[in-house]
Amino acid sequence: MSPQLIVRVLPSIVALAVATACASRPSDPLSYELVGSTMGTRYVVKVIVGDGAGGADGDDGGSEAALRELIETELELVDRLMSTYREDSELSRFNRHADVTPFVVSDATFEVLAEAERISTWTDGAFDITVGPLVEAWGFGAAPAAQPPSDDELEGLRQRIGFATLRLDAAALTVRKTELRVEGDLSAIAKGYAVDRVAEALEAAGFPRYMVEVGGEVRAGGLNAEAAPWRIAIEQPDAASFQSIVPLTDAAMATSGDYRSFYEWEGRRISHTIDPRTGRPVEHALASVTVVSGRCVTADALATALSVLGPDEGYRFAVANDVAALMLTRRADGGFEEQSTPAFQRLLDDAGVR
Ligand code: ADP
Ligand code: MG
Repeated sequence: MSPQLIVRVLPSIVALAVATACASRPSDPLSYELVGSTMGTRYVVKVIVGDGAGGADGDDGGSEAALRELIETELELVDRLMSTYREDSELSRFNRHADVTPFVVSDATFEVLAEAERISTWTDGAFDITVGPLVEAWGFGAAPAAQPPSDDELEGLRQRIGFATLRLDAAALTVRKTELRVEGDLSAIAKGYAVDRVAEALEAAGFPRYMVEVGGEVRAGGLNAEAAPWRIAIEQPDAASFQSIVPLTDAAMATSGDYRSFYEWEGRRISHTIDPRTGRPVEHALASVTVVSGRCVTADALATALSVLGPDEGYRFAVANDVAALMLTRRADGGFEEQSTPAFQRLLDDAGVR
């Protein structure tokens, strides 16, 4: 699966192998752009320093190395704990824990599990991290599938699915299985959490002006180098043009799309988003869902949940719950229908966009 980034940052990110410190005019604040790879995707972090916000120590290169270290420490922590591709990750060990005894997890993993539970309950199970076995069966796991599962196989797998089979204990920091074969898959929420970790680590280190992006999930703090909200572009599905530019300051944005990771089987598009209610990949005409929220972990999970719910139910849910969302639906003529919720529209209006 080659993930194609659907969110790009404007001005467009120059793929630099190393971080660069740049101050084009004497009055411009010093900024760093750091690019690297993590969790099978790319990260881009921009940090504005040297504007009296504290924490920075000038352009001596030392702070650049320190920034990279700070960023990679957070990203590595999330990958090491929550990757389903790493057999030694905490999540993989939990998945192999075929026992009813509580399994102790790290603070970080617990925080993600708790947010996953909250979003599952809120979306009535549209978001469900126990879809792992279905994800595998449909060919989106660590190993590719030879062919889609049969109805019988699906019926068998569905008995192992459902967030209610996991019991969290916040005081003990444990998670317990009530069905031994249940497995967790944090792919739809861990990237957003990693973005939050980096953003919050930057803030704690005295850098309130930043843009953090991991595989299309973004969080922006403060104002950009032009002293304006960061401008984050939503790419048009299947094309290299932009659908919309979203002003972001002290907020996060995540996009879930059916065109980034899918395959065709007998003329049908098989999406990597699984509807836990049917056990099957979603089949509606929704091409992408973007959600803006305070924290990226929430935006990431909600974007996936709205993708499951689809253009009608998802839109109604977002409006009723005051979720800032933009949904792009495929039209028969190949174009896209754009639907944004009042909360999303307010975001644009407040920034004087459109
Ligand atoms: P991306 O941002 O890369 O498009 P998402 O955040 O939408 O990805 O997450 C997609 C991944 O989430 C899938 O590959 C699968 O591992 C997992 N997933 C699929 N369906 C669901 C679901 N209904 N609830 C939670 N996770 C899901
Ligand atoms: Mg997601």
